Amino acid sequence: MKELSVLPDGYPEIMRVYGDPLSAGFIHDQIAAFELPFPLKASWNTAVVYRWMNMHRYVGDVVVDALREMMEYRGLEYLQENAYDVTGGCFNIRKKTGGDRLSTHSWGIAIDMVPQLGLFGKKSYVPDFIVAAFERRGFVWGGRWKLPDGMHFQACKNY
Ligand SMILES: [Zn+2]
Repeated sequence: MKELSVLPDGYPEIMRVYGDPLSAGFIHDQIAAFELPFPLKASWNTAVVYRWMNMHRYVGDVVVDALREMMEYRGLEYLQENAYDVTGGCFNIRKKTGGDRLSTHSWGIAIDMVPQLGLFGKKSYVPDFIVAAFERRGFVWGGRWKLPDGMHFQACKNY
């Protein structure tokens, strides 16, 4: 099993470990395309199918490994029949929802899974086996926050 080797704590450590998303060269130096173990559908248009995903170079392998565990759990057909193969995306330089700070998606260190089951601010219905696949590898799950973000898994804490 692949696990996160570091879990930066707070903004300064995130910047030190993962780099500055707004700096020149960030994408070139820090972001890489990772081949996915099964195709993920985009939540905003399920006709869009990802076979590769741009993620931070320290994190992509671990996301891929978590997805592989999801697939091995009950098979790809099961994931597809239940729309557990839907993603809200990973790397995206933007502000946090309702905030001024950079979203963790800006570093390519967060992925949104089955957003239809884990809407921001709402009770999460994201299945336990998906949460477990990411948490056992060190990801922080937004579904445990006071203001829940059930779709959201990130490779840092306290930010
Ligand atoms: Zn997210």
